[in-house]
Amino acid sequence: MSPIIAVAPCRSLPDYVESIRRAGGEPRVLDPAQDQPASVVGEIQGLLLTGGVDIDPTLYGEERHATVTAIEPERDVFEFALLRAAREARLPIFGICRGLQVMNVAFGGTLVQDIESQAAGILPHTVAAPPCAIAHEVWISKGSRLWTLMQEQMVDADTCSVNSRHHQAIKNLASGFEVTATAPDGVIEAIECPNSAFCLGVQWHPENFWRTGEFRPLFEGFIEACRQ
Ligand code: MN
Repeated sequence: MSPIIAVAPCRSLPDYVESIRRAGGEPRVLDPAQDQPASVVGEIQGLLLTGGVDIDPTLYGEERHATVTAIEPERDVFEFALLRAAREARLPIFGICRGLQVMNVAFGGTLVQDIESQAAGILPHTVAAPPCAIAHEVWISKGSRLWTLMQEQMVDADTCSVNSRHHQAIKNLASGFEVTATAPDGVIEAIECPNSAFCLGVQWHPENFWRTGEFRPLFEGFIEACRQ
Protein backbone atom coordinates (compact mmCIF):
# COMPACT_ATOMS: atom_id res chain seq x y z
CA MET A 1 0.00 0.00 0.00
CA SER A 2 1.18 3.49 -0.81
CA PRO A 3 1.61 5.75 2.21
CA ILE A 4 -0.90 8.61 2.29
CA ILE A 5 0.84 11.97 2.22
CA ALA A 6 -1.05 15.04 3.38
CA VAL A 7 -0.28 17.97 1.10
CA ALA A 8 -0.89 21.50 2.38
CA PRO A 9 -2.99 23.24 -0.29
CA CYS A 10 -1.32 25.94 -2.37
CA ARG A 11 -1.74 27.66 -5.74
CA SER A 12 0.59 25.44 -7.76
CA LEU A 13 -0.18 21.90 -6.63
CA PRO A 14 0.41 19.74 -9.73
CA ASP A 15 4.20 19.40 -9.43
CA TYR A 16 4.00 18.51 -5.71
CA VAL A 17 1.32 15.90 -6.37
CA GLU A 18 3.24 14.43 -9.31
CA SER A 19 6.50 14.28 -7.33
CA ILE A 20 4.78 12.41 -4.47
CA ARG A 21 3.10 9.95 -6.86
CA ARG A 22 6.30 9.21 -8.76
CA ALA A 23 8.09 8.47 -5.49
CA GLY A 24 5.37 5.96 -4.55
CA GLY A 25 3.15 8.02 -2.25
CA GLU A 26 -0.59 8.70 -2.41
CA PRO A 27 -1.13 12.46 -2.14
CA ARG A 28 -4.10 13.75 -0.14
CA VAL A 29 -4.53 17.48 -0.65
CA LEU A 30 -6.01 18.85 2.56
CA ASP A 31 -9.06 21.09 2.78
CA PRO A 32 -8.64 23.55 5.67
CA ALA A 33 -12.44 23.98 5.80
CA GLN A 34 -12.94 20.27 6.45
CA ASP A 35 -9.76 18.75 7.81
CA GLN A 36 -8.93 19.15 11.48
CA PRO A 37 -5.15 18.88 12.06
CA ALA A 38 -5.57 16.77 15.21
CA SER A 39 -7.62 14.11 13.44
CA VAL A 40 -5.88 14.29 10.03
CA VAL A 41 -2.61 13.06 11.51
CA GLY A 42 -4.33 9.78 12.40
CA GLU A 43 -5.22 9.23 8.74
CA ILE A 44 -1.89 9.97 7.04
CA GLN A 45 1.67 8.61 7.02
CA GLY A 46 3.51 11.83 6.20
CA LEU A 47 3.13 15.60 5.79
CA LEU A 48 4.31 17.78 2.90
CA LEU A 49 4.32 21.54 3.54
CA THR A 50 4.26 23.44 0.25
CA GLY A 51 5.28 26.85 -1.09
CA GLY A 52 3.27 30.06 -0.94
CA VAL A 53 3.07 33.57 0.46
CA ASP A 54 5.11 34.98 3.34
CA ILE A 55 4.34 34.01 6.93
CA ASP A 56 2.79 36.77 9.04
CA PRO A 57 5.88 38.36 10.68
CA THR A 58 3.95 38.94 13.92
CA LEU A 59 4.28 35.18 14.43
CA TYR A 60 8.01 35.71 15.05
CA GLY A 61 7.61 39.03 16.80
CA GLU A 62 8.40 41.48 14.00
CA GLU A 63 6.56 44.26 12.24
CA ARG A 64 5.88 43.74 8.58
CA HIS A 65 8.62 44.84 6.15
CA ALA A 66 7.42 46.87 3.13
CA THR A 67 8.11 43.95 0.77
CA VAL A 68 5.78 41.61 2.66
CA THR A 69 2.70 42.43 0.64
CA ALA A 70 0.49 39.37 0.94
CA ILE A 71 -0.05 37.24 3.99
CA GLU A 72 -2.64 34.55 4.73
CA PRO A 73 -3.03 34.34 8.52
CA GLU A 74 -5.56 31.50 8.29
CA ARG A 75 -3.12 29.39 6.29
CA ASP A 76 -0.42 30.10 8.89
CA VAL A 77 -2.70 28.92 11.70
CA PHE A 78 -3.74 25.78 9.82
CA GLU A 79 -0.19 24.77 8.86
CA PHE A 80 1.30 25.49 12.29
CA ALA A 81 -1.36 23.27 13.91
CA LEU A 82 -0.82 20.57 11.30
CA LEU A 83 2.93 20.64 11.77
CA ARG A 84 2.74 20.45 15.56
CA ALA A 85 0.26 17.57 15.38
CA ALA A 86 2.45 15.73 12.85
CA ARG A 87 5.54 16.17 14.99
CA GLU A 88 3.64 15.00 18.07
CA ALA A 89 2.59 11.90 16.11
CA ARG A 90 6.23 11.42 14.95
CA LEU A 91 5.22 11.50 11.30
CA PRO A 92 7.80 12.25 8.60
CA ILE A 93 7.67 15.91 7.55
CA PHE A 94 9.02 17.47 4.36
CA GLY A 95 8.88 21.26 3.97
CA ILE A 96 9.45 23.07 0.68
CA CYS A 97 10.17 26.82 0.39
CA ARG A 98 7.44 28.40 2.55
CA GLY A 99 7.17 24.93 4.13
CA LEU A 100 10.76 25.16 5.44
CA GLN A 101 9.98 28.63 6.80
CA VAL A 102 6.81 27.34 8.49
CA MET A 103 8.87 24.58 10.15
CA ASN A 104 11.40 27.11 11.43
CA VAL A 105 8.91 29.69 12.73
CA ALA A 106 6.49 27.15 14.24
CA PHE A 107 9.32 25.76 16.36
CA GLY A 108 10.64 29.14 17.52
CA GLY A 109 12.91 30.44 14.75
CA THR A 110 12.78 33.73 12.84
CA LEU A 111 13.13 34.91 9.23
CA VAL A 112 14.95 37.62 7.31
CA GLN A 113 11.89 39.30 5.78
CA ASP A 114 13.66 40.49 2.63
CA ILE A 115 17.14 39.14 1.95
CA GLU A 116 17.80 41.48 -0.98
CA SER A 117 17.45 44.64 1.13
CA GLN A 118 18.40 43.28 4.54
CA ALA A 119 21.56 41.30 3.80
CA ALA A 120 24.70 42.11 1.80
CA GLY A 121 26.15 40.33 -1.24
CA ILE A 122 23.04 38.32 -1.97
CA LEU A 123 22.91 36.14 -5.10
CA PRO A 124 19.75 35.99 -7.25
CA HIS A 125 17.17 34.02 -5.24
CA THR A 126 14.08 35.10 -7.17
CA VAL A 127 14.44 33.48 -10.59
CA ALA A 128 10.79 33.10 -11.52
CA ALA A 129 10.77 31.31 -14.86
CA PRO A 130 10.98 28.66 -16.03
CA PRO A 131 10.21 26.91 -12.73
CA CYS A 132 13.26 24.65 -12.98
CA ALA A 133 15.71 27.37 -14.04
CA ILE A 134 18.94 26.98 -12.07
CA ALA A 135 19.58 30.02 -9.88
CA HIS A 136 22.53 29.13 -7.65
CA GLU A 137 24.48 26.31 -6.03
CA VAL A 138 23.97 24.92 -2.55
CA TRP A 139 26.66 23.40 -0.38
CA ILE A 140 25.35 20.41 1.52
CA SER A 141 26.68 19.34 4.94
CA LYS A 142 28.46 16.00 4.77
CA GLY A 143 26.77 13.25 6.71
CA SER A 144 23.36 14.97 6.84
CA ARG A 145 20.22 13.20 5.70
CA LEU A 146 20.06 15.55 2.72
CA TRP A 147 23.66 14.70 1.78
CA THR A 148 23.01 10.97 2.11
CA LEU A 149 19.94 11.17 -0.12
CA MET A 150 21.60 13.38 -2.73
CA GLN A 151 24.82 11.29 -3.09
CA GLU A 152 24.28 10.37 -6.73
CA GLN A 153 23.35 13.86 -7.84
CA MET A 154 26.09 15.99 -6.31
CA VAL A 155 29.09 17.57 -7.96
CA ASP A 156 32.42 17.67 -6.03
CA ALA A 157 30.82 15.52 -3.31
CA ASP A 158 28.82 18.30 -1.65
CA THR A 159 27.42 20.73 -4.22
CA CYS A 160 24.25 20.79 -6.25
CA SER A 161 22.47 23.36 -8.38
CA VAL A 162 18.99 24.51 -7.44
CA ASN A 163 16.18 26.79 -8.53
CA SER A 164 15.16 29.65 -6.28
CA ARG A 165 11.95 31.64 -5.80
CA HIS A 166 12.12 33.19 -2.36
CA HIS A 167 12.81 36.67 -1.01
CA GLN A 168 12.92 35.53 2.62
CA ALA A 169 15.25 33.16 4.45
CA ILE A 170 15.92 31.76 7.90
CA LYS A 171 17.50 34.21 10.35
CA ASN A 172 17.53 32.45 13.74
CA LEU A 173 17.26 28.70 13.51
CA ALA A 174 14.63 26.91 15.60
CA SER A 175 16.10 24.77 18.36
CA GLY A 176 16.38 21.09 17.53
CA PHE A 177 17.25 21.84 13.89
CA GLU A 178 20.56 21.90 12.03
CA VAL A 179 21.43 23.84 8.88
CA THR A 180 22.35 21.25 6.24
CA ALA A 181 22.70 23.39 3.10
CA THR A 182 23.68 26.98 2.39
CA ALA A 183 24.03 29.04 -0.76
CA PRO A 184 27.49 30.54 -1.44
CA ASP A 185 26.18 33.90 -0.11
CA GLY A 186 25.36 32.35 3.26
CA VAL A 187 21.60 32.07 2.77
CA ILE A 188 20.26 28.98 4.56
CA GLU A 189 18.85 26.56 1.97
CA ALA A 190 18.07 23.41 3.99
CA ILE A 191 17.44 22.37 7.58
CA GLU A 192 16.73 19.08 9.26
CA CYS A 193 16.21 17.53 12.71
CA PRO A 194 18.98 15.05 13.35
CA ASN A 195 18.20 11.83 15.21
CA SER A 196 14.49 11.91 14.52
CA ALA A 197 11.92 10.74 12.03
CA PHE A 198 12.36 12.35 8.59
CA CYS A 199 12.02 16.09 9.31
CA LEU A 200 13.65 18.08 6.54
CA GLY A 201 13.05 21.39 4.81
CA VAL A 202 14.53 22.89 1.65
CA GLN A 203 14.32 26.48 0.48
CA TRP A 204 14.32 25.61 -3.22
CA HIS A 205 11.61 23.83 -5.24
CA PRO A 206 12.60 20.19 -5.91
CA GLU A 207 9.03 19.41 -7.02
CA ASN A 208 9.57 21.33 -10.27
CA PHE A 209 12.13 18.74 -11.43
CA TRP A 210 9.93 15.64 -11.61
CA ARG A 211 10.33 15.36 -15.39
CA THR A 212 14.12 15.13 -15.19
CA GLY A 213 14.46 13.60 -11.71
CA GLU A 214 17.31 15.64 -10.17
CA PHE A 215 15.59 15.66 -6.76
CA ARG A 216 13.67 12.42 -7.00
CA PRO A 217 15.91 10.92 -4.24
CA LEU A 218 14.52 13.50 -1.81
CA PHE A 219 10.92 12.49 -2.48
CA GLU A 220 11.86 8.81 -2.46
CA GLY A 221 13.65 9.19 0.87
CA PHE A 222 10.62 10.96 2.30
CA ILE A 223 8.16 8.33 1.05
CA GLU A 224 10.43 5.51 2.27
CA ALA A 225 10.38 7.07 5.76
CA CYS A 226 6.58 7.30 5.54
CA ARG A 227 6.33 3.52 4.96
CA GLN A 228 7.88 2.79 8.36
MN1 MN B 1 17.75 30.33 -2.96
